[in-house]
Amino acid sequence: MKKKYVIGIVSITILLIILSVIFFIPPKFELKGGKNIEIKYGEKYKEPGYKVTKFGQNLNKNVKITNKIKNKVGTYDVIYKVKIFGITFSQTRTVKIVDLEKPVITLNGNTNVLICPNSEYQEEGYKAIDNYDGDITEKIKITKKDNIITYFVKDSSNNEAKVTRKIIKEDKTSPSINLKGNKAITLYLGNTWKDPGYTANDNCDNDITNKVAISGSVNTNKLGTYKITYAVKDSSQNQTTVQRTVKVISKPTNSGSSSGKKGTIYLTFDDGPKEGTTNVILDILKEENVKATFFVTNSGPDYLIKREYNEGHTVGLHTASHNYSIVYKSVDSYYNDLKQVQDRVKRITGYESKIIRFPGGSSNTVSKNYSKGIMSILTKDVLNKGYKYYDWNISSGDAGETTSSSGVYNNVIRSLSKNRANMILMHDIKPYTRDALRNIIRYGKNNGYTFEKITMSTPMITHHVNN
Ligand code: ZN
Repeated sequence: MKKKYVIGIVSITILLIILSVIFFIPPKFELKGGKNIEIKYGEKYKEPGYKVTKFGQNLNKNVKITNKIKNKVGTYDVIYKVKIFGITFSQTRTVKIVDLEKPVITLNGNTNVLICPNSEYQEEGYKAIDNYDGDITEKIKITKKDNIITYFVKDSSNNEAKVTRKIIKEDKTSPSINLKGNKAITLYLGNTWKDPGYTANDNCDNDITNKVAISGSVNTNKLGTYKITYAVKDSSQNQTTVQRTVKVISKPTNSGSSSGKKGTIYLTFDDGPKEGTTNVILDILKEENVKATFFVTNSGPDYLIKREYNEGHTVGLHTASHNYSIVYKSVDSYYNDLKQVQDRVKRITGYESKIIRFPGGSSNTVSKNYSKGIMSILTKDVLNKGYKYYDWNISSGDAGETTSSSGVYNNVIRSLSKNRANMILMHDIKPYTRDALRNIIRYGKNNGYTFEKITMSTPMITHHVNN
């Protein structure tokens, strides 16, 4: 009886042990992809799959998964749980989110920078952007060795980035020399030569005027063309040379009493031609057998210029527009205007006139309004270009002072002199001048004057230049 009882106890114990082994044996967790998974920041975690079995039975249906994975670098658990007869079994997978991407450094300006040898590089700026940390510009460390600047940065995951900038100290740009005044200067024999000055500038050295070396000289007592050379070198040995030409010419015959043939009269007519006056003036000159000079513009009909020329008069040039604001705007503007009327005369007559009269005369001051000093330049420069210019020593007053033929007549005859060449300013566009002409010619003839037209060999009669 006692033995039987003991056997019973043992049997029950064994049974209980077997049962609890069956209950408490954990199921088998198979995690696809392994227990530890690493994924790159930015990639999304995707369940790789699992299989949970116990005694060959698939328990996937009963598995509950929990995870707190965030879109941030870090280590996260994914927990797989299954409950069997009230007992919970679990398995954990570790997911690591890592950042392996380097930051990107961008430089403002060039990676190879050319700067002046005597200057220091001024940082042009930089930026570092990281896929994970964002803008980490302020973490950039700058180091400089020789001519290389290195920009280095590390992101919070210790990914490193490095870029370099090369500084090249070099100057290949030549300085510039600016000459004050004109590059071509004309002086009269005996004048004093004074250099109008110059400045020199360099991209690296700035003002280097005091380094300019001048060579050449001007002898104003000897006719000729002189060259003055201005040379300058910058600190990188780039050199610039410019030249100024100084021409010394003989002084023109000056206004008045002793120049030209004494007792001659030069009738000069400006501003034409004009229908109704110029044609009548030409008729009178023909009838009186007197030659005159016409300083023409672009106005009036071509045939009157043709007549002037064919009938033996001199066709001089007065400028095309006679508009002071155009004519005296600049030296170039003057020549441009002059050429237009010169071309006109040449087209009509085939003759290239080089005899000129400045609008307002060389003594005019109106040109000051448009270009200071232009008459001082032009009166010399036209001579260099082979022109001759003629002012006058008698004004008929027909430009405004008088509007009657008797006024014109009286102004002329009371100024005539036997002791000089008489150059009379008249305008063939004025009817009262037209009407005074025959009497002026008759007076001249009756008083022993001779009439001549201007030619290239006629001595110039010039005014004092006032601008
Ligand atoms: Zn005029």
